[in-house]
Amino acid sequence: MPNSNVNYSSGALKMACIDAHLHVDMYAEEERDVLLEEAFRNGVEAVVAVSMHLTSSKTNDALARKYEGRLHPAYGFHPEQELPLDVELGQLLSWIRERYAEGQAFAIGEVGLPYYKRTELEAEGFLFNEKPYLSLLETFVQLAAELDRPIVLHAVYEDADKVCDLLQTYNIRRAHFHWFKGSEATLERMIEAGYYVSITPDVAYEKEIIELVKYYPIQLLMVETDGPWLFEGRYSGQQTVPCMVKQVIADIAFIKGIEISDAATILLHNTKRFYGI
Ligand SMILES: [Zn+2]
Repeated sequence: MPNSNVNYSSGALKMACIDAHLHVDMYAEEERDVLLEEAFRNGVEAVVAVSMHLTSSKTNDALARKYEGRLHPAYGFHPEQELPLDVELGQLLSWIRERYAEGQAFAIGEVGLPYYKRTELEAEGFLFNEKPYLSLLETFVQLAAELDRPIVLHAVYEDADKVCDLLQTYNIRRAHFHWFKGSEATLERMIEAGYYVSITPDVAYEKEIIELVKYYPIQLLMVETDGPWLFEGRYSGQQTVPCMVKQVIADIAFIKGIEISDAATILLHNTKRFYGI
């Protein structure tokens, strides 16, 4: 297990970093500004704010205008929920196109496949029809290709292969698989395609994630919190905040056997290059 404690909650560790996947709109409304301002004060250069649906996208759009250059929005429909009605999807897609017409910088996300929803239902003996989720994802992949925007993906284990097929059909180069877990064969395929993977604080205690960090080239890694998702181990009982990515960087440096400052520089550069921040 990595053992490289850094005081991520203070500004003491001067390390510029980006939280590449944060659900800022899922924090209580009165907490959002405090959370972001504290992060920016403590060396977090920017956060990538992913969306669940249209309402969430609108919140992130407003925050992106308020924190220009520091909050980079991603607009989409999260797969681990009920499918949108056609009219809702239509509204979301035309709203995203309006942001594009306005010239706003944004990514497409969070989109993907409902791995946890599907496997939980299947474990209870239900049949799960994945087809409409695949076609919803295809709509967003097509949009990312058409608007030439990076795409943020929720696709783990065997779902990642289905997503890679779709990305390759539409010649998508800029794909970010957040909090990825999967087989070595899938990882190999993703490395080959130049797809990015982001690491969360659970690299401190999840063997599978430690192995992934060993395996995946650092040039294709980013760091994230997926906040407000809560973590265990040294993070037990703590609210998830963007500054925690500093500890993730330290853990990655430890696993890769490189200096923390070198890891920080590479990871920051990767995220900026990928998102155009
Ligand atoms: Zn997420």
